[in-house]
Amino acid sequence: MEESTQEIIGKDNSNYLPVFSRYQIVLDRGEGVYLFDTEGNMYLDFLAGIAVNVLGYDFKPLVATISEQAKLLIHCSNLYYTRPQAEAARKLVELSGLDRAFFGNSGAEANEGAIKVARKFAHSIDKNKSKIITALDSFHGRTLATLTATGQPHYHEGYEPLPGGFEYVKFNDIDALEKLVDDQTCAVMLETIQGEGGVHPPNPDYFRKVRELCDKHRALLILDEIQCGMGRTGKFFAYENYGIKPDVVTLAKGLAGGVPIGAFICTDEVANSMKPGDHGTTFGGNPLACAAANVVLDTISQKSFLDHVAEVGKYFKEKLVELQQKFPDLIRDVRGEGLLLGAELSKPGRRVVELCMKRGAIINCTVGNVLRFVPPLIVEKDQIDELVEILFMSLNDFSEEG
Ligand SMILES: *Cc1c(COP(=O)(O)O)cnc(C)c1O
Repeated sequence: MEESTQEIIGKDNSNYLPVFSRYQIVLDRGEGVYLFDTEGNMYLDFLAGIAVNVLGYDFKPLVATISEQAKLLIHCSNLYYTRPQAEAARKLVELSGLDRAFFGNSGAEANEGAIKVARKFAHSIDKNKSKIITALDSFHGRTLATLTATGQPHYHEGYEPLPGGFEYVKFNDIDALEKLVDDQTCAVMLETIQGEGGVHPPNPDYFRKVRELCDKHRALLILDEIQCGMGRTGKFFAYENYGIKPDVVTLAKGLAGGVPIGAFICTDEVANSMKPGDHGTTFGGNPLACAAANVVLDTISQKSFLDHVAEVGKYFKEKLVELQQKFPDLIRDVRGEGLLLGAELSKPGRRVVELCMKRGAIINCTVGNVLRFVPPLIVEKDQIDELVEILFMSLNDFSEEG
């Protein structure tokens, strides 16, 4: 007999490390932009595994490629070459305008690699050039170095001693950054658009000035595009919106459409500080993950696909602004680019997420009061209308609950 929903939840509750506060449903399968639970309920999904399922669910070319690659070769050591990895690296180099790509298995690993390559490069100039400046309210991952890079103290608590050399600055505050950057600065590491920290886009000329400060002090600019890259803003990389290029950029989340992967891409100048043996990975960039990434990259890098994201993103943002006008006391701000949008509430938002779920939509709330929308990039306008209607009714319920 099949296990019931309650049995599955009970089994997980007694065996899995209790680090997530989970919603009480068991997800089973997906189709397009919809998810289904074990009770047969259907959900319009505007979270997409946190910006991971960029092509939605059951995207035929992705499923076919993964199945074919699984038959051929799931994994082999990085001591040998594979066709999917060579091809995925070529694509990332071409799309970024940078020179060298390296694959890991997650966002944290991608950032960890970016930090390592930056330190090697900076130490080749001056062995004291170690300082890495990151932003307050940033999010860079959960390994010790990346959680230290994360400018939110509550992620650090209890894990001390933390790796040294990290300093924090207010995002979007160029004067504060100018005071902190000096010749001992190894890198400035920023999300191009802050995601977990509450969906904060940069001021229009912020990155141009950050780039200038980095150049002046020979500090590297590392951009974490794990959440905002992969076409999410309507450009392949979010930095393309601001007319600059980083020295190192990281990707993960959407890169293989749901198969675990991460990558950093850097210039030759930075890459040349690494020799054989200086970094490595067992699983990273294996043929299964890279074959999946190749399908995603081919699909998303099409101009027509990126234009679709920009167009539906603009439409969605307009709808959220209209909603803000209907709930002026509740919705404080609507912000974001493309399909990385946030609605800041004047109250905690978890209850709104629950109310939406009851009405058949999955959304997310970050930093307590920012509703975050990161749907699959294939989402259409009528599905946005459906979400906005559910959100409207849920906000009504929420207001009535008081
Ligand atoms: C999700 C995320 C990470 C961490 O990725 P993991 O795969 O969870 O390790 C890092 N940076 C940003 C901007 C992210 O959104």
